[in-house]
Amino acid sequence: MPVLVMKFGGTSVADLARIENAAKKIQSEVARGYDVIVIVSAMSGKTNELIGWVETTSKLYDAREYDAVVASGENVTAGLLALRLQVMGIPARSWQGWQVPINTTSAHGSARFVAIPRANIVQKFGEGFKVAVVAGFQGVSPEGRITTLGRGGSDTTAVAFAAAFDAERCDIYTDVDGVYTTDPRITDKARKLDRIAYEEMLELASLGAKVLQTRSVELAMRYKVRLRVLSSFEDTDENSGTLVCDEDEIMESKVVSGVAYSRDEAKMTLVKVEDRPGIAAAIFGPLADAGVNVDMIVQNISELDSPTDKRAHTDMTFSCPVNQTARAQKAMEDARAAGLFTYASLVVDTDVAKVSVVGIGMRSHAGVAAKMFASLAAENVNIKVIATSEIKISVLIDRKYMELAVQALHDAFDLEKA
Ligand code: ASP
Ligand code: MG
Repeated sequence: MPVLVMKFGGTSVADLARIENAAKKIQSEVARGYDVIVIVSAMSGKTNELIGWVETTSKLYDAREYDAVVASGENVTAGLLALRLQVMGIPARSWQGWQVPINTTSAHGSARFVAIPRANIVQKFGEGFKVAVVAGFQGVSPEGRITTLGRGGSDTTAVAFAAAFDAERCDIYTDVDGVYTTDPRITDKARKLDRIAYEEMLELASLGAKVLQTRSVELAMRYKVRLRVLSSFEDTDENSGTLVCDEDEIMESKVVSGVAYSRDEAKMTLVKVEDRPGIAAAIFGPLADAGVNVDMIVQNISELDSPTDKRAHTDMTFSCPVNQTARAQKAMEDARAAGLFTYASLVVDTDVAKVSVVGIGMRSHAGVAAKMFASLAAENVNIKVIATSEIKISVLIDRKYMELAVQALHDAFDLEKA
């Protein structure tokens, strides 16, 4: 029997009525002849509540107990959905991570898959079960303890199962009907995409689009899992939603496919650090050790250099999430106190946002950057930092212009039209 993986996110299993709705969608796929593996999230809000209970009980909690508590949300939905399917006459059972077993590393709170043996679930399908309802987001460590994968991890569970079972497709049911050219809350011209390439989705997810966990897209790309994002709140068929797939399967050839943004960025500049071999390592090593997620980096010659000062200097600018600025600042001050390097001052700008355009078409088209900068200039938006990759251009701008910039770029690259 062909295998289909279906994943239901928190809002799609938010209460018993939503669970029944999910069961009906599963029923139609069983009727089409699939053996179905269903991955479920916790009911919406549940994981936050569980995390809150852990943090209230113990500030410096034992990560193994955190995982034991936080994984339980998915267990509840898996059991309830299996029960609902049984009531509808569909042979189904629930699976917790350790029962499959979903083997992960022992990095509690951010574990990674090691292996998902098929034997137990395959045997149950052989015995006549039609649906395996698997608790997402969790696994078991080599030590036999419950692990979790990090927030949004059920998407990654779903893709991992699709890869392990050679599923025909992995359908991610959520509360939006697909992947859009940009956030529809920012412009009503945002358009749902029928298809998007893995690489583009990966950039969009890591640049701030929240529809899929970034790791799930990485995994889908690596194992060529056809991934579909669709709404559990609508009637759907084989053509609904957005298919995330190989670029060969994409006819539509736009240079830019989407505009992403990330609101809560900060820009930090170390003014006048020595320009010598090892300086970047001396700065970014301590930042990494402090757990600061540095994104864009720019190094330029310091305006402060005087003709009489023989030593060369440089300014080093980087961006990071705004809630990590205090940590970054402390790491820099400590590194300076430890004699790793010197600087004249550290300038922190916490009112910036990142706006990016993404598209595989950029590989073969010149002029995308020029067009992007021109349309921001036309709106009088000042660009503070620029970073590019093969298929993306990001700019850091004042946060108050973020919406304006997204709208302007969406217009400039004609994303409204298919
Ligand atoms: N329930 C977990 C979370 O809220 C995992 C998931 O839903 O993907 O992060
Ligand atoms: Mg999610």
